Amino acid sequence: MIIVLRMDTPEEDVEKIKETLIANGMSFNVLKGAKFTLIPVVGDLTTSDIGRFKSLPSVEKVIAVSKPYYLVSSQYKKEKTVVDLGDGVEVGKGFSMISGPCSVESEESLEKIATFLEEQGVRILRGGTFKLRASPYSFQGLGEKGLKILRDVSSRHNMKCVSEIVDVRNLDVFLECVDIIQVGARNMMNFSLLKELGKSGKPVFLKRSLSAKIDDFLLSAEYLLSEGNENVILCERGVQAFDDITRSNVNIASIPILKDMTHLPIIFDPSHSVGIAKYVPATSLAAVLMGVDGLMVETHFNPSNALSDGYQTIDFETFEKTYRKINSLIKFMDEEG
Ligand code: PEP
Ligand code: MN
Repeated sequence: MIIVLRMDTPEEDVEKIKETLIANGMSFNVLKGAKFTLIPVVGDLTTSDIGRFKSLPSVEKVIAVSKPYYLVSSQYKKEKTVVDLGDGVEVGKGFSMISGPCSVESEESLEKIATFLEEQGVRILRGGTFKLRASPYSFQGLGEKGLKILRDVSSRHNMKCVSEIVDVRNLDVFLECVDIIQVGARNMMNFSLLKELGKSGKPVFLKRSLSAKIDDFLLSAEYLLSEGNENVILCERGVQAFDDITRSNVNIASIPILKDMTHLPIIFDPSHSVGIAKYVPATSLAAVLMGVDGLMVETHFNPSNALSDGYQTIDFETFEKTYRKINSLIKFMDEEG
């Protein structure tokens, strides 16, 4: 960090700051400029609340130089993390398509969707079972019954599955039924939940909160890694928009930025970010161009009849066409280098 002192700081205040830094075991220099005095400080500040140095006499501001996380960073680990789900399904190696309905609605409808997706070559099936809805009167998901359906259907189709956990009290049934546990945007900052998932070692699909900065997002992932869980997949899903035409702001520029900053795989969710089925194909292709490791797309045989998020869900025909284009684009990008 760098401590910047106010203009005309008295010498005794500089002495007090030096004493405090020495008492905290920190190395520093005092650089006196024409107007300002700067004190660059080095030492392990990961566990320090550097904000407290602002309360020292004559301190104008404190500038953090290093990031407050390290386990997730690409400086800490050079090679990319690959989350191995078994049976040849890996996230972070090649391109991963994750698809399925917003919610598991019934065994029959999920069966129909999984049959189609398997034919398309999709290896990971999504389906919400405990839904976090804005209204208590909206469809809340099938709960445990939905998780069991998701497990049965995905296993029958040789697929892996992912569903969102909303309450740590359901952890056991999630550990039993799914291959990846999703933490939704609204729970990205539920740190006690993250700690438990970190201890579980189970692959976690962590979605970015609508209001999280990239640093906040990576800090939440750090919670999982600091508990010993390296099986973490990050999902960019758009951030709060001031315009209500789209569901969120489609911030695909964060894909290459995140890929530079972290070794964890990055998935993009076009459905919840743009929020309009018609624009899901173009948004998906744009994310692929940005170098994403995979997509999570909501698909249903009859979006108008879906119990949740029908407006942003694509139908089979659109999925087929889009996935074909995605595969051609990936091939083109691989050839061009
Ligand atoms: C979801 O993927 O089902 C979901 C609710 O997404 P988000 O948490 O990103 O809103
Ligand atoms: Mn949804």
